[in-house]
Amino acid sequence: MTPPSSHLKDLDYSVVQQCMHCGLCLPTCPTYDATKLERNSPRGRIALMRAIADDRLEATKTFADEMYFCLGCLACMTACPAGVNYAELFEHARAEAEQSGVLNSPKRNVIRAFTLRWLFMDLNRLQLVGHILRLYQQLGLQTLVRRSGILRLLPKRLRELEAITPEVQAKFSADLIEPVTPAVGEKKHRVAMLVGCAQDLIFSDVNLDTVEVLARNGCEVVTPSDQHCCGSLHAHNGEWELAQRLARKNIDQFPPEKFDAIITNAGGCGSHLKHYAKLLAGDVNYEPRAHEWDRKVKDIHEWLAQIGITAPPAGAREQVVTYHESCHLCHGQKITTQPRQLLKGIPGVELVELFESNWCCGSAGIYNLTQPEMAGQLLRRKMEHIRSTRCTVVATGNPGCLLQIVNGAKEQGIDLRVVHPVTLLAEAYRDGKA
Ligand code: SF4
Ligand code: SF4
Repeated sequence: MTPPSSHLKDLDYSVVQQCMHCGLCLPTCPTYDATKLERNSPRGRIALMRAIADDRLEATKTFADEMYFCLGCLACMTACPAGVNYAELFEHARAEAEQSGVLNSPKRNVIRAFTLRWLFMDLNRLQLVGHILRLYQQLGLQTLVRRSGILRLLPKRLRELEAITPEVQAKFSADLIEPVTPAVGEKKHRVAMLVGCAQDLIFSDVNLDTVEVLARNGCEVVTPSDQHCCGSLHAHNGEWELAQRLARKNIDQFPPEKFDAIITNAGGCGSHLKHYAKLLAGDVNYEPRAHEWDRKVKDIHEWLAQIGITAPPAGAREQVVTYHESCHLCHGQKITTQPRQLLKGIPGVELVELFESNWCCGSAGIYNLTQPEMAGQLLRRKMEHIRSTRCTVVATGNPGCLLQIVNGAKEQGIDLRVVHPVTLLAEAYRDGKA
């Protein structure tokens, strides 16, 4: 399939003209809240997108910068009474920005070619980089470099990036999880497990917990070792054609007709994975299968609520937990009650509600890398609310949020455990040896 001539002009006009300018989304938009500028609001951004679709505006650098200042958090979609599909508009707007080339620079092109077109297109490459990073961290080189003061010679931005580099796991999912994990007891479902890309490098333990919880709840879990990225990183950064390629690979690897569900434990991935049919619209070989795929993709909280879980035995550890909602889980997938139900069902957990739990923490994919100032403001706001709960544990269902809050706690010197809800459930099963 050839890429469209202009993403916004070729987009279904009923999507482009849906906004009725009521402004109800404005108070929910973190960037508008920070600046109070119309152009930094959902309504302002949609007006810019429509002007391009109507041929009244060129895709300028100002337009592209605005699209990258948007977090893509989708809070505006939850607030919108007209059902504006901002997620679709946003992805096409960023693709339009990339297509126009207005942001091109040698440095940016090299970074994008290395990350989006090379590293995240083949997870063996990503794992190789992960192993190198792990060696750097474990052999003490990172500590040595940090102590030597050599980092002071780097530009401020690089120093900041170095400080938030996450610790890479000793083993990735392929080393921890069998290709097929049998159900514990009676097999009731057969599911596929997507291990993710960054998730696998940094949170392979969460993948293991997820598989364990699924197996304890009657699922046979298929987890092949050679998986692909879901493509959300590509779709959210204007690489439409690469996102399509990855979607086809995933459908080939996990034929949806062979599974009761295709499970993801990353809110950001799930929100994208559920829209492959839109991504592959017009592809006669894949679009029909993509519809079935979209129906079968389930976030882990959603799936566990659907099948009903075996209650963990009493006598588990006492802990005060608060829950931060990943934007793409609550706004993108409308999954809000299921994680709370799961947490409340764990013996010993006291769940304390977090003020503004569905307000973005600033992670937003790679937003904390590309827009550090705004991301930092959002993180400080989030940490203030977390502190006021007096919790010892923050649970959240997305790797980006996990990392962001871990960094926030580190920065502010707060002793906080940040975990995926499924990890708490897996621990409760293990504690009680259910
Ligand atoms: S996606 Fe988030 S940041 Fe972007 S316009 Fe909507 S509410 Fe604002
Ligand atoms: S996006 Fe929805 S809520 Fe926002 S101005 Fe348009 S119609 Fe109103």
